[in-house]
Order: sequence, then structure tokens, then C-alpha cells
Amino acid sequence: MQNGIFQLARPQNEHSMNFATGCPEREALLSEVKRQREKVVEIPLVIGGKEVYTGRTVDVVEPHRHGNRIATLHLGGEAELRRAVDAACAAADDWAALPWEDRAAVFMKAADLLAGPYRFQVEAATMVGQSKNLWEAEIDVCELCDFLRFNAYFLQEIYRNQPGITPGAINRIEYRPLEGFVAALTPFNFTSIGGNLACAPAVAGNVAVWKPSTTATLSNYFFMRILQEAGLPDGVINFVPSRGVDFSRFVITDPRLAGFHFTGSTEVFNSVWREVGSHIERYHSYPRLVGETGGKDFIFADSSASVDALVSGMIRAAFSYAGQKCSAASRAYIPASLWPAVREKLHESMREVYAGDILDPHAFCNAVIDRAAFDRIRACLEDAAASPEAEIVEGGGTDDSVGYFIQPTVIRAMDPRYKTMVEEMFGPVLTVFVYEDKEQDEALRLCDTSTKYGLTGAVYAQDRAAVLKISRALSQAAGNFYINEKPTGAVVGQQPFGGSRASGTNDKAGSATNMMRWVSQRSVKEVLVPDTDVLLPHMK
Ligand code: NAD
Repeated sequence: MQNGIFQLARPQNEHSMNFATGCPEREALLSEVKRQREKVVEIPLVIGGKEVYTGRTVDVVEPHRHGNRIATLHLGGEAELRRAVDAACAAADDWAALPWEDRAAVFMKAADLLAGPYRFQVEAATMVGQSKNLWEAEIDVCELCDFLRFNAYFLQEIYRNQPGITPGAINRIEYRPLEGFVAALTPFNFTSIGGNLACAPAVAGNVAVWKPSTTATLSNYFFMRILQEAGLPDGVINFVPSRGVDFSRFVITDPRLAGFHFTGSTEVFNSVWREVGSHIERYHSYPRLVGETGGKDFIFADSSASVDALVSGMIRAAFSYAGQKCSAASRAYIPASLWPAVREKLHESMREVYAGDILDPHAFCNAVIDRAAFDRIRACLEDAAASPEAEIVEGGGTDDSVGYFIQPTVIRAMDPRYKTMVEEMFGPVLTVFVYEDKEQDEALRLCDTSTKYGLTGAVYAQDRAAVLKISRALSQAAGNFYINEKPTGAVVGQQPFGGSRASGTNDKAGSATNMMRWVSQRSVKEVLVPDTDVLLPHMK
């Protein structure tokens, strides 16, 4: 019996610790990091609540010390992937029938377990497996807590949204889960996104099959265990490390696919969209496709910008987490009148900016994620060093002898369409184009049109008219736009995150808009005293 209308208060964002030297939390986290570096965790699939060890394994290593194995990952193939879809669908009715407050309670509990007893475990796994420093790992875990709590809260707001009353009748909207299952395909770069993509549909009553990224599996697996401890019923979320192509072949093409929740590269999202399109006759309903994808995020400076604020924004946005945030700035447009001062300040500040091991407290960032990323970025830097169209003005060094280290690099491009000004590289590399002050309109046009993306961007200007002009000119160039602030660091519930153009469907992770994609409305009208006449009044 549920005689009550239950309410969730609007959550507070999880408070992040700063880990100042000497504080006990810092010591606790670092000792957990050391412990995890010395262990090899055997990671199974979790299907219908049961651990599955297939024996087809891959090694997971530390990106900053690639000789050190931290996990052995069991991969699912066709049989396990099909079984995971079956397990999800078998769990669907009971899960959808559970009162929504009870579903929400599971995720609220998971958030508290993550924020409390398991915080350092998941943060250490994020540091060791995804090469984050302690601050980046902390904000990642805080963001996952926020996703879990805000999703439930926004769902409540959606459920509350009910139609007007007609005299003599009751109108209702039921927010049903989708009919079938949701496939969640997640990236390496945020533990928070890994967890969120399956949990957001699930709190709305959906069931999910979740394929994590191999390089993020350690933190993602620990989170899966937290969900189980929080009381998530078996089969509601199935954890299936596997090859991407197998996931596409055996999960995406299943007729019961009702939704696809993705974050990752534009290329993979496009390939899944094509896969769905080419099988469209086969599905029981039109699958909802929700994807946050690539970016070529910009900083645009006006001649009135504060040089100190601009350079701070450029460095933090381009090099934090080795430029592997989807929001990382990778191109900047600087007016010629400001360039000498910016150049000098950059040079001075970059002396303290280098990539190093996760336990080096002074390292600004750590390794890039894997060999493929390292080779791709190194090739771009070699091109830039050899090209007459570009000049490496800071950094440029690479070293893969111990870990996949790319030194934070600034390139100056003479051609505003030079490769590193327009293509996503996903590494600690910022390319600058210096424009003539009197050609600002052309520079704005280039910023707006020379890439296919539209994710994040920032303007630096102190002149209010310039802020307005630049914001208007770039209104479609970014889904998250910042004024005198770096274009990274969106917070759930404060700056809903996502972009359009080739950067995704802009459904804003951690918002009511995103949650709307995971419900299917049924409008219900109940007439209290039914009409018994056949003829309408004007016929009588
Ligand atoms: P990715 O696209 O390479 O991988 C994402 C997931 O897809 C992984 O689980 C991967 O194993 C899987 N996959 C890879 N190839 C596949 C295939 N052919 N078929 C099916 N699945 C496949 O992305 P990544 O390297 O993990 O993450 C980096 C990318 O993610 C960047 O492009 C970045 O901009 C983007 N990103 C975007 C956002 C955003 O909010 N817009 C956030 C984070 C990351």
C-alpha cells in the first residue's frame, strides 16, 4: 500500500574535496591507488545478476605505466550478448511495475555508497585505469553522484507534468518506460558517463545492456558492483565488456532495441545510426537514438580580453586530463594586437605544465589513454613540426617508454583550416590562429564554419558590445557556451551538457530533456458519466 505522495528534494551537487597536501583524504586515496596498482582484478561480465567468465580475455594496463597490468577482462561474444538482451527483457516487467520511488531509492542509495564507502575505490580505479590525477578523479566521481541524484529528481518533475482538467473527465499522462531494452555504449574518458548512460534510462523503468570501454572497465566494474549492493534487481542492467563490432551486430540489431544511449566518437555514433537505419523494418518500435559525440571546442578572444584570464582558460581547458575531455579547448582565435602578450604569458605559464605519472603531485596532466591515441597524436605533432602551415610554439615532446606521455603542446597555425584547427585529436594540443583585429568578422565566420562540430566554446572579452557580438555570431557553434570562463567543467544541474551539429543530439546529460527520451507517454482520458446519446445536438 502506498498511501502517500512522496517527494525528492532538489539535490545539492556532491561536494568535491580539494586534497590539499597533508589532508587525511589525500593519504587514504593515494594508499588505495598504491594498493590497486599492485593487484590484478579479474573482471567478469554481469548478466542477469550473475558473474560470467568467458576465458576470452584482454589485459587492462595503466596508461602511464603500460608495463603494469591492473585487470584481466573477460569479453562477451555473440552468446553472452544475446543472453544479456534476454536477461534484460526478462527483468523488464517487474522493474517497470516497481513504484517509481523504489526505483529511485536504488540509485539514491548507489550515489550515497559511491560518495561514501566506495569513493576512494572508484576514484583510485579511475586514476589507475584512465590516467587521471586525484582532482580529475574526484570531480568525475562527484559527477556520477550528481547524475544519479538529479536523474531521479528530474524524472519526478516529468511525472508531475500532467494535463489540464476537462469537466466531467479525468485526464492523465502515464510516463511508461520504452518497450524493449536500452543499449548503453560508453566511452573511456569519464567514469561518470560510463555509469550514467545505463542508469538514466533505468531509473525511468527501462532495462539496459551496458558495454563499457575496455580502458575504463576497472572503475566501471566497481560501479556495477555498487549498483548491485544498492539493490538493483538482477537483469535490470547487464554489464557486457565486449568488442564494439560484436555489440553492434548482436545487440543493436535485436528487434527489441528500444533506445540507444551513447557517448563517444562521432564515427561510432554514425555507424550505429546507419546500422539501426538499415534494419529499421525489424524493430518493434523506432529506437530512440541519443548520442553525445566529438568536438573541436574553441576559445575566441576579443582585443579587450584580459590576457591573464585568457591564458589561464587556454591552459586549463586544453591540457586538463591531457585534453581528453570532450569539452577540451583545442583551437583558439587570438587577435594580432593581443598575441605578443598572450605568447609571452603562455610561455611563462607553460614552464610549470607537464605530463607525468598519476602519483607526481606537480604533473598538470597524465598519460593519454592508449597506444592508438599516442600514435595518432604523435603523428599530428610530427606533421606540424614539418609543415610550413604550422609552428610548434610550446611543447611538442612525446615519450612512450614507460607510459603514453604527450607533453602539453601549443601549435600556431598559419592556415585557419590547418588539420589541427579543424579535426578532433583528443590530446593535450591547442592550436592557435592569430587573426588581424580588423578581420574579426571573418575570424568569427571561420570559427563557426570550419569544423563540423558544435559542442563547447568560450569568448574572452571585457567590452560588453564585443561579448554580445561574438555570442550572437557563434550561437550555433556550441551547445555549451562560456563568457570569460574556460569551456570545460560543466556541472550537472547547473550547465546541462551537450552539443549539436556533429557533436550529438544535444539531449543534455543529467537533465530533464535527457530523461524525456527514456519515457513514452500514454494519454489517458476517463469519462465519469459516459454520454449515451447517438446523435449530436445539432442533428436533433
Ligand atoms: P569511441 O567512439 O572510440 O568509443 C566509445 C564506445 O564505443 C566504446 O565502448 C568503444 O569500445 C565502442 N566502439 C568502438 N568502436 C565501435 C564500433 N565500431 N562499433 C560499436 N562500438 C564501438 O570513443 P572514446 O575513444 O571512448 O571516447 C572519446 C570520444 O568520445 C571523443 O570523440 C570525445 O569527443 C567523445 N566524447 C564526447 C562527449 C560528449 O558529451 N559530447 C563526452 C565524452 C567523450
